[in-house]
Amino acid sequence: MNNFDLAQRDLAVLWHPCTQMKDHEQYPVIPIKKGQGVWLEDYDGNRYLDAISSWWVNLFGHANPIINAAIKDQLDHIEHLIFAGFTHEAGIKLAEQLVAITPSGLNRCFYADNGSSAVEVALKMSFHYWRNIGQIQKTKFITLENSYHGETLGALAVGNVALYKATYAPLLMEVITVPGPDCYYRETGESWATYSERRFELMEQALQRHAGSVCAVIIEPLVQCAGNMRMYDAVYVKRLREACDKYHVHLIADEIAVGFGRTGSLFACEQAAISPDFMCLSKGLTGGYLPLSAVLTTDEIYQAFYQDYSTLNAFLHSHSYTGNALACRAALATIEIFQQNDILVKNQVLAKTMAAVAMRFHEHPQVAEVRQTGMILAIELVKNKQTREPYPWQQRRGLKVYQYALANGVLLRPLGNVIYFMPPYVITETELEWLAEVAWQGIKRAVED
Ligand code: PMP
Repeated sequence: MNNFDLAQRDLAVLWHPCTQMKDHEQYPVIPIKKGQGVWLEDYDGNRYLDAISSWWVNLFGHANPIINAAIKDQLDHIEHLIFAGFTHEAGIKLAEQLVAITPSGLNRCFYADNGSSAVEVALKMSFHYWRNIGQIQKTKFITLENSYHGETLGALAVGNVALYKATYAPLLMEVITVPGPDCYYRETGESWATYSERRFELMEQALQRHAGSVCAVIIEPLVQCAGNMRMYDAVYVKRLREACDKYHVHLIADEIAVGFGRTGSLFACEQAAISPDFMCLSKGLTGGYLPLSAVLTTDEIYQAFYQDYSTLNAFLHSHSYTGNALACRAALATIEIFQQNDILVKNQVLAKTMAAVAMRFHEHPQVAEVRQTGMILAIELVKNKQTREPYPWQQRRGLKVYQYALANGVLLRPLGNVIYFMPPYVITETELEWLAEVAWQGIKRAVED
């Protein structure tokens, strides 16, 4: 078997996610034979450094021996079973762990099987909570400009990235969209904190106006990942928590992308020292091995559903693969790695190295901003550094970086004109240096004409 043959067979029958399939007339799809650590290897023996953690899921490398062993052991016991009326040890232990490691007050864990589904669960639970306590006028959600929460219709509705959303607008519930705290737009010399705090006034106004009809505000704390890795200060999350309490509105923290150490702390909400009413987790939850998500919530919310069956107030949401035992076991192994290896401390060093290797991009004539939050670093390419005029999207400059990087052994997948590094935590200093060099050369070629 080789790359070409497999790619041909692939394109004859497959339809890939987030892809204009016609692009593959020009760019081959790459069949991967195996993975090891930060490396992926194709059928022709080419290796690629997985600098984006395979869509932000992988934490401790491909073929991680600890996670591999845990899944193999689980296979000999139970792979999966119905999670209604039945339970299993891995699912119980994982819920205990998640309750223990997430911010205080999040004492209940509801499983789903991907990030979008977790968002759907949180939205439905919030709405249903208010209904169960008699507040039936609460039917709306507040979301931030440039947010992203997934692709299923409810999750898409509370997102705000036009590229994914605009086509489906007629199918989506209406939401209240508030201008966001994205610090790319701060004034020269203004700190992230000042700008984020200033932008919070718009949220406060929206809450003041709409709170009576609003179930929840949903945010991606600190980094709007799919929204071009735009970042903001924790003070916004802190103010939002205070305001949600004041106006009796839930706070949903979508930590699907930013959870599990990406922002430097285990969960981004910790940096604001707050507990949300719902926390959605997925991606890194299983170390990037298996699809699983969890929605953590409070006793108060749980209790509003805990009544006699005849009230018909139960949360009757389900997915066939809820609480998949193999996935739960992978997640337990992932949490164990965090706990036994001082990962967050090691990541502080790695994050500093990331900042250092990216230093030279600040001065690049086509780079408007290099920004970083913990283990996420983004480089914003622009046509004009002074005015920040972006490159027209039709020029697909990011795609040129992608192709150059692939040809040189790095998997980068820019978001439009934003090149970012979000590597597995097992990347080495040397690999980071090399990654930056490939990105530098890729950008050089992408902005040539
Ligand atoms: N929320 C956020 C913040 C995300 O980044 C993503 C995925 N990129 C999702 C939700 C959706 O998760 P999934 O792709 O597993 O449905």
